[in-house]
Order: sequence, then structure tokens, then C-alpha cells
Amino acid sequence: MQVICKNHRCKQSFEITDGDLAALEMVSPIIAEKKYSISPPTLCPDCRQQRRLAWRNERFMYRRTCDFNRKEIISMYPPDSPFKVYEQEIWWSDKWNALDYGREFDFNRPFFDQFRELQLEVPRVALVNKQSENAHYTNHSGKNKNCYLSAVTFESEDIYYSDWVIDHCRDCVDCSYLNEGCELCYETYYAWGSYQAFFCDFIKRCQNVWFCYDCMNCKDCFLCWNLRNKQHCIENKQYSPEDYQRKIREIFPLSSAVLKKYREKYIQTKERIALHPAIYQLQSEGCSGDLLFFSKNCTECFDSIKMEDCRHCVDAIDIKDSLDVYHVGWAEMMYECHAITNAYNLLACHFTYDNKNAAYCDCTQNSHDLFGCAGINHGAFCILNKQYTQEEYKHLVPKIIEHMRKTREWGEFFPLSFSPFGYNQSRAQEYYPLTKEEALARTIRWSDYEPPAPKAARSIAAVRLPETIADVPDDVLNWAIKCEVSDKPFIIIKQELDFYRRTGLPLPKRHPNQRYLDRMEQRRPRKLWKRTCQKCQKEIETAYQPSRPEIVYCEQCYLTEVY
Ligand SMILES: [Zn+2]
Ligand SMILES: [Zn+2]
Repeated sequence: MQVICKNHRCKQSFEITDGDLAALEMVSPIIAEKKYSISPPTLCPDCRQQRRLAWRNERFMYRRTCDFNRKEIISMYPPDSPFKVYEQEIWWSDKWNALDYGREFDFNRPFFDQFRELQLEVPRVALVNKQSENAHYTNHSGKNKNCYLSAVTFESEDIYYSDWVIDHCRDCVDCSYLNEGCELCYETYYAWGSYQAFFCDFIKRCQNVWFCYDCMNCKDCFLCWNLRNKQHCIENKQYSPEDYQRKIREIFPLSSAVLKKYREKYIQTKERIALHPAIYQLQSEGCSGDLLFFSKNCTECFDSIKMEDCRHCVDAIDIKDSLDVYHVGWAEMMYECHAITNAYNLLACHFTYDNKNAAYCDCTQNSHDLFGCAGINHGAFCILNKQYTQEEYKHLVPKIIEHMRKTREWGEFFPLSFSPFGYNQSRAQEYYPLTKEEALARTIRWSDYEPPAPKAARSIAAVRLPETIADVPDDVLNWAIKCEVSDKPFIIIKQELDFYRRTGLPLPKRHPNQRYLDRMEQRRPRKLWKRTCQKCQKEIETAYQPSRPEIVYCEQCYLTEVY
């Protein structure tokens, strides 16, 4: 059926297919052997996605005090956040009890209003970076060593200013989506098992490559695209080892000006010369969506690994039978969830580890059978953080569901305005940007908090930085550099300087946040369009908008040309 999105600023017509309805029925919760069907979505997939994304701040971290012990801590919540924030050690300990905030459900009021009051009182965890060593400025991460200003980074070492770095990567700076033990990479995204990759994307098992796009098993290549098993190539032209080295020596030592020239040339190459597959899927069957790996029967999913029978899911690892989820892993049977690990049967939940049979919960851990709870660890049979017996719980929850049907809350994720972050601090701002005025008009919070400028002995405009790394004095560690785009001051840390010296890269002239935005700009949107293959004219579904300049081929034409 065709439905009009209820967000009156959107009003997009969207389709709810029989497949969507069947999947919703499958994930609908069963309480005391009775199924409580989830109402069909009232917002279009984009507005639903925006609502979930608004709940995620990965990269912005602030100094503030812990509301339990007044210690200075690092947190994803700025000091002006309306929430109570506890440092990790305290939040995970038994020094406080979330059940102390429990309250009766009031059938005369909407559910969300009551949940909001609870949410504002229950302490939140400052950061999520468990089992890490010297990795204070990392969030939504774990099991790392010596990392700084990175998010969604796991089991990795010496990672700086990066996001989504998993499986034992090391010594990487300014990268996104690195997998399978990447090492010594810089300004690279979507790389698997690659070593010394600089300004590359979509590379697999490559070594010592610069400005390479969509290359596999390549070594010593510079500004190449769509290559397989090659060595000593420049602009896709084969050279002898001696000639290659001679040519490369002419480019190095790399100055900022030369780097800028090649970065521009690389972007042009990707836009005008390189071939692009319509969608990027690896060992996936029956899926629509982009950047899917080892997945089966998925509809409109993006950036996910090992998924089966899922719809509208993004950034997921190893999940099954789920709809509308974002940043989830090792879980089954979820709808409208975000930041979930190890879960079964969740509806509209945010940030939970090891939960099952829960609905409308925020930051609940190691629990089961919870409804409308916040911050509970090791709990069961609670509603609005109040403890019930199993029988009482099974009696009361169906009544609340019926109440939520009447108030039209049942099946909806928490309202966008309940996000624990300012919209401008959230990932929604990257995919669905709003101005401050637009956000406030929709009662969406906006954060005006600006952290204090870094303490530095001197301040220098980026344009005045030495052109090559050889000319950079040790004293640079005491400077505040003004970003060439945003004018925001940033510092260079010792480990970073060592990395640039080791790799011969000049100092960056942009603030880490600007560097991240630049990388984001190069990525494809998480959306599908219809266009035709530029080779055989067959109709294709692709993540490249028809108006974009890239040469996009259907899978068959792409494979014929590239392999
Ligand atoms: Zn909409
Ligand atoms: Zn074709």
C-alpha cells in the first residue's frame, strides 16, 4: 500500500509492501502467548532513518564533570547536556541503582511523556569504550590500545581520527571503514587487509599504494583505478621497477601543494575515468542495497556484513530477521533499534548489550523482559524502572500496549526530540542536514556548546605551516593550527607527528572534523536510484544518482571490464 509520510515537512509517498507487513508481524512481541502486532510505519524510510541517526553522537567528545563524583571526565555529552552523566566505572558499578527511579505507569497520559521524565532523571554513561588502554577519546569502541579521537573502533592499536576500524588494524590516521588488519593507512576508506595505503578507497590486499581506487592485490601503484594484481603502475600505465622508482622519486618528498594537486586529480579520476559497479556487494544473494557483504535476502540495506532477511538496516554485523535498525550486531528480531549488541526480540530500543524481550528501553544492559526502562543493568520484569513480578508484568504490558495504540505511539521509535544529543552533534546532521532554525522549529534540540580552544604556546594559520614534514620542528606540538576551511584551532599530537614523519606526509591543514567531513563527501549516499548501465543500457539500481558524473556499469559489464 502507498502511504504519505506523516512528517508534514516531508509528505513523501512511500510503499509498505506485503513483505514489510509480514516482517513486522514476525518481529511483533509475544506476551503471555499472545502476539501484539506492531502497527505499520507512519514515517517514510528516510524520516525513520533520520530519527534513529539523531540518537547517535560518535565523534564529538567533551570534558565535563561526572555527576556522581564531580571528577573531570571525557564524555559524549557536553557540559550543557540536560542529562545526568556518570563516568564509565561508576555507571557500570553497583554504586547506584536504576530501580530507584521507578514509577507507576499513568494511563491518563501518553507513554512517551512519562518515558521522557524518566530518561531525564536516570544517569547516562559518559562514553562507551570498554576494555581499552590509553584510548580515552574513543567512543562506541572497545578493546583498543593507544587510540585517539576515534569512533566505532575495535581490537585495534594506534588509530587516530578514524571511524569504523575493526579487526586488528594498526597505525592508521584519518581513515574510515578499515577491516582485516589494515596497517599504516592514511586518508583511506573502505580498505581490507592493506598495508601503506594513502588516499585510497575500495582497496583490498594492496601494499604501498597512493591515490588508488577499486584496486585488488596491487603493490607499488600511484593514482590507479580498477586494477587487479598489478605492480609498478602510475595512472594505470605499467612501468619497469626502475622507471617506477625514478618517477616516484620525482614526486617525493611530498609537499602540501603537490598533495593538493594529486588529491584533486584523484577525485577527477574517480568522477570521469574510473568504472564503478552500480552497487557494491560481495558474496551476497538476493539483496538490494549498497556495501553489503556475505548477506542474504535483504531489502534496502547499507554498509552491513553477514545479514539475513533484513530490511532498511544500516551499519549492521551478523544480524537476522530485523527491520529499521542502525549500528547493531549479533542480534535477531529487532525493529526500530539503534546501538544494540547481542539481542533477541527488541522493539524501539537504544544502546543495549545482552537484552532480550524488551521494548522502548534506553541504555538497559544484561536484562530481559523490560518495557519503557532506562539505565537498568541485570534486570527483568520492569516497567518505567519499577520492579514487578513476572505475572504482574505480563498483565500490565498488554494494557500499556493497548493504551499506546490509542495514543498512536505503538510501533514508533522515540520522538526525534528525545535524542540525548543536539541534532548538530548527531549523525543525522551528516545525512539529513538541518539549520538551527529548522531544528528548533521542530522542537529538536541544538547544542551551541563550544569546547574551549586547545591550550597552545602559539597560534598559526594553516597556510603558514611548513610545506614538507622535514621542515616541521618538534615545537609544532605546542601550536594551535587554524583550519584552512573552518578556522577552528586544532593541535597535532606526538603520535600523529611520528606517523607523518615515518610516512613522509605533510601536516594536515584542516581540523579533524573537517577532514572527516571531506571523507564523508566522497562517500555515496545510502539511497538507491534507477539509471541505465553506461555500457549496455540495461536498467540498474544504483547508489549513484543519475545526475552524477561517474561512469556506472551493471555488474556484468563491470566484471567483464575489470577482471
Ligand atoms: Zn518522510
Ligand atoms: Zn551493462
